[in-house]
Amino acid sequence: MAEFVCYSCKRKVLTGEKFTFTKSGAVHFDCFISARRKEVPEEKQETLRKLSLLLDSQLKLLIDILEIRKGQPEVEAVTAAYKNIEKECGETTRQISSL
Ligand SMILES: [Zn+2]
Repeated sequence: MAEFVCYSCKRKVLTGEKFTFTKSGAVHFDCFISARRKEVPEEKQETLRKLSLLLDSQLKLLIDILEIRKGQPEVEAVTAAYKNIEKECGETTRQISSL
């Protein structure tokens, strides 16, 4: 995996850590959500909570698929699933960013 540095905590994103990409670059899931919790208005906090749960499970899936691919990089179905979920993660991240 390429090396990314989290723009929030300035630490490297390690393999197996949940992270996503925003307009500002790569960011840990936890860093991203805790920053948004401080910025998002009170009436949208519940939506933020739900979207963060969704993104959390989507990112977990990506990490699981990476694990499967390590053993069998040729499995095409897994590659397709990865691309789909990656796209969904991007969409969820975008929604969280625009709350
Ligand atoms: Zn971070």
